[in-house]
Parts: sequence; structure tokens; C-alpha cells
Amino acid sequence: MALGRSMREVLIVDGGNPCNKPVPRSHNLLGQDGRSPSVITSIARQEVLQYPTVNFLKDIVETAKAVDDYFELTTITGQVLQAKKILLTTGLKDEMPEINGFEACWGISVLHCPYCHGYEFRGINTVIIASGTTAFEFAELISHWTDKLSLVTNGEAELEKDQYQLLAEKNIKIIETKINRLHHTNGYLQCIYFEDGTSMDANVAYARPFMKQHSTLPEELGCEFHNIHIKVDQYQQTSVRGVFAAGDNCSPLRSLANAIAAGGVAGAFINKELIQSEFFRSMAVPGPGNHSANDIEEENKNIHNDVHYVGKNQHT
Ligand SMILES: Cc1cc2nc3c(=O)[nH]c(=O)nc-3n(C[C@H](O)[C@H](O)[C@H](O)COP(=O)(O)OP(=O)(O)OC[C@H]3O[C@@H](n4cnc5c(N)ncnc54)[C@H](O)[C@@H]3O)c2cc1C
Repeated sequence: MALGRSMREVLIVDGGNPCNKPVPRSHNLLGQDGRSPSVITSIARQEVLQYPTVNFLKDIVETAKAVDDYFELTTITGQVLQAKKILLTTGLKDEMPEINGFEACWGISVLHCPYCHGYEFRGINTVIIASGTTAFEFAELISHWTDKLSLVTNGEAELEKDQYQLLAEKNIKIIETKINRLHHTNGYLQCIYFEDGTSMDANVAYARPFMKQHSTLPEELGCEFHNIHIKVDQYQQTSVRGVFAAGDNCSPLRSLANAIAAGGVAGAFINKELIQSEFFRSMAVPGPGNHSANDIEEENKNIHNDVHYVGKNQHT
């Protein structure tokens, strides 16, 4: 949005597989509360495509490399793209655990975040499927939304002595028996069957599956990481000059509002960098990067896009 409104040539390339795809309704996004992710995306897309310099391509970027002062990218449909800047909004991928029924319930009644979906499931039979510190921290948090709470650790709970004690005081049951399957109707959890033949009623579960970068492009471009996230500065600039990132791929605060805000910041600072290089060029003196005006003009001749989004940032 910020780039379109700055008259920048932008190509959004999106494979169309966002992490919140299975979710019936998104919440906690001011102005869009309760809308489905696909509706929010299509409204956002309509808004940004109103700006004539913004274009959209449904495709997947396969490779990206720096060539002198620009980037060359190829897509799985064989397109070759060039851009002065890249904004990576490629997101994270959740790896589903091997629990029968888990994937079918993910985003519907097996949840990652109470701020996004906890209100709709408040006060009902709730389980946390996790062990160790994650389980304890989740239990503490979710106890605010329901007092019908159990920990299903699917094996050893791996808790500290005082944690067992605190959970017992709060009437939070711990079940260490291995899960056989999550029984559900169209993704809505009904009960959990265990390997020892027992079962328990549960209508919602919270879990934190293993996450990884959705795309290998950040690594390929040489971006530095902090744990699983791309390292960015306050302007969403990665460790690679000209490559910016926004959204889940660089933030542990996984929410639409956060991704949108980061996209807005990245857009403004990408535009600022482009303005600076153009400003120096118009003054016919070497600008940042120590290039003469003629050099830059020559380099830019064949670069059709100022900015190339890889992935979708639903609202930028
Ligand atoms: C189950 C679930 C429910 C959620 N519910 C909510 C909610 O209710 N409210 C809320 O605020 N937040 C919610 N979130 C968090 C929110 O969905 C994310 O924070 C947000 O979608 C992040 O946006 P993003 O653009 O960074 O990543 P994503 O939305 O995951 O989008 C990344 C996009 O990049 C594309 N892509 C990746 N690699 C490439 C490539 N090489 N080439 C082209 N395209 C590529 C993908 O196909 C995808 O379309 C939820 C998350 C999950 C997992």
C-alpha cells in the first residue's frame, strides 16, 4: 500500500498458501474482526491493485540472487524477474505433528493463540497439547479464558516439581497417556481418544507445532537469522542490503495487525532508499553505493520493478 501510494512499480508474487488458510474467521484485527482470511485478503488485494503501478502474479519464486545492484528472481512457471528491492513476506510454515485428526482441526478448534480465537471458545472444555515449559506457559495463559482446562502431554509431562504443584492447585489435570486420535466433526474437536483405550471430552485444544520458514529464499539471499526468524532492524531491513522482510518470517508476534504494521514500515523505508538513490542521481553526484549517475541509469534500464514482494502481506 505504502509503495503503491508512492507510485512505485511493485510486483506482488504470491503462491497463495498463507498459514491461516484453514481458519474460518480471523479475529483481533481492528476493522476486519470476524471476517474470513480469504475475504480479508481479497479486500486488501483490491485496495492495493487500485494503484496502477502495483501488479499481482500468482506464482512461486524459486530462486533469488543479487546481480550487481539489483536482484534476479525466477519462478516455478519459468518467469525471470528483476527488481531493485525485495520485500520478503513469505511467512512461516507449521509442521503438523503425527497425531491423527490434528491437521483437520488446526485453525478451527486446535488453536495457536487465545488472542485470535480464545474468545469464541471461552469457558468450555479445553486441553493444551504440549509438554515442558510450553505446556506450563500455555496453561497459565489459557487459564484466563477457561477454568475447564487440562494438559495432554502425549508422553512425559517434563514439568518441574513446583509446576506440578501449581497446576494441581489450579485444578489443571495432567494426562501423560499417548494420544491415539482427535475425534472431530468437520474440524470441530469432540473428544480425545488415548492409546490405553480411555477418552476425554474436549472442544478446543491449544498447541504450538514446530515452525519453520515457509520459503528458503531468505537463506538463499544470505539473510541472517535469530532462531527461526529473519533478523531485521527497526525499518524491516534484513542483513542483506536491499532485502527487507515483514510479517511472520521475522517476528515472534504472529498476528495480522503486526504483519500489516511491519509491511507499512518496510514500504516507507524501501521508498525512502529509492528516493535517496534517485535524488543523488538527479544531482549527478555519486550516491549511496558509490555509483555515478550514469552507472545507476545504465543499471536500471532493464529493471522493471522498483520492489518485488515475495509472498503476500495481506495489507501492504
Ligand atoms: C492457524 C492460524 C490462525 C490464525 N488466526 C489469526 C487471527 O485470527 N488473527 C490474527 O491477527 N492472526 C492470526 N494468525 C496469524 C496470522 O495469520 C499471521 O500473522 C499472518 O498471516 C502473517 O502474514 P504473513 O504475510 O507474514 O504470512 P502468511 O500469511 O503465511 O503468508 C505468506 C505467503 O507467502 C507465500 N509464499 C511463501 N513463499 C513464497 C515464495 N517463494 N513465492 C511466492 N509466495 C510465497 C505463501 O504462499 C503465503 O501466501 C493465525 C495464524 C495461524 C497459523
